[in-house]
Amino acid sequence: MHLNLFKFGGASINSAAGIKNVAGILKTFSKGPLVVVLSAMGKTTNAMEEVLKNYMNNDPVGVVDTFQKVWDYHFAIADELFDDKDHVVFGEIGSLFNQLRGYIRKGHLYEKNRLEFDFEYDQIVSYGELISSSIFHHFLELQGIHSKLFDVRELIKTDSTYRDARIDWETTGQLIREKINSYFQQVPGSEHVALTQGFIGSDAAGNTTTLGREGSDFSAAIFAYLLQVKEMTIWKDVPGVMNADPKWMKDAVRLETLSYREAIELAYYGASVIHPKTIKPLENANIILRVKSFLNPEMEGTLVENLKEWKISVPIFIRKPDQVLISISPRDFSFILEENLSEIFRILATFRIKVNVMQNSAISFSICVDADPLKIAPLLSFLQKDYETRYNEGLELITIRHYNPESVDRITKGREILMELRSRNTIQLVLARE
Ligand code: ASP
Ligand code: MG
Repeated sequence: MHLNLFKFGGASINSAAGIKNVAGILKTFSKGPLVVVLSAMGKTTNAMEEVLKNYMNNDPVGVVDTFQKVWDYHFAIADELFDDKDHVVFGEIGSLFNQLRGYIRKGHLYEKNRLEFDFEYDQIVSYGELISSSIFHHFLELQGIHSKLFDVRELIKTDSTYRDARIDWETTGQLIREKINSYFQQVPGSEHVALTQGFIGSDAAGNTTTLGREGSDFSAAIFAYLLQVKEMTIWKDVPGVMNADPKWMKDAVRLETLSYREAIELAYYGASVIHPKTIKPLENANIILRVKSFLNPEMEGTLVENLKEWKISVPIFIRKPDQVLISISPRDFSFILEENLSEIFRILATFRIKVNVMQNSAISFSICVDADPLKIAPLLSFLQKDYETRYNEGLELITIRHYNPESVDRITKGREILMELRSRNTIQLVLARE
């Protein structure tokens, strides 16, 4: 059986017109049995985070207000898609919303702590995907596309690390293979869609879990890997993987191909087009990843595959805004050697701070990190005792893969460089914001 797999993110289904477009893509581009992994619609995950915030703050007015916004948004879309106001879809999404309402209405009764927050997050925010997939399923049926909706919580099993759940590959493998394959065996010969949600799963106790923000690319990769598909397509609002964010560089170009290795590097340096966890399962099973535009579905897109000899055609630019540079020097003027370094890294780990670039001299160690005031201020005051620190904000970090003199010039011309790190393939520059 030659199975296809498509993943659609929130931007592709943010309106009734978007949903119609995606249904059209399924009609035109799917050949044979197809698994579809769907995100929440538009910015629903952010909107659900607002509901959660009010719930955690025990603010009933805020809860009602934010809940109503999510409700209105989805019902308006459903209204536009379904002329028959008695269609089952209205009852179905109404009952999902009512479940959610029942959950949040009881109020948040417990002590606030981080673990608790993560648990509540997953129970509430996951409704975005449940609601979007219900609407999309019924719309496909209305369009004459055979679809079966699978609750992904019965397929993807995880541990109980809420908001960052780890996959139980063995159980998940059994469930996915058994349920998805048996569905397609029951409906041979014609074109059928197995539709399911990205981003979410469930733990052994049956509680809903999530795989981390933007996690539905990873969900799709899990299905692709376990079902051993040949190819998986992620449909995006860009023509493919570009050599820079086209909103930043107007002359950005599409990369025709990319090796898995290069894709992993790009995700690591902060290219947001592919979720970092997505590539590894695909590489392990040698599955081709196609990144295509849902706005121009006829266009080729980018192929990410196993290329031993990937030909570099252009430098690739990755920009991380909102950076700070912290220079740390021991107060006793000791050299920055293993002992100081391991101490500093231990402290960074305690504060859960990820270092984007680092450099050291004899008596000073500099790190460039995301400007997260909730983490940086406590870090600085902690370091205070043994270290003198200097601090620069309002910076950006630009990474150029496969740089050449022109590409470096383009970025640095007339700008002060606060830090520069060069390896054979990659240059990283910390610069004041333009
Ligand atoms: N809906 C989730 C989010 O916005 C997951 C995803 O879209 O990948 O983070
Ligand atoms: Mg998304």
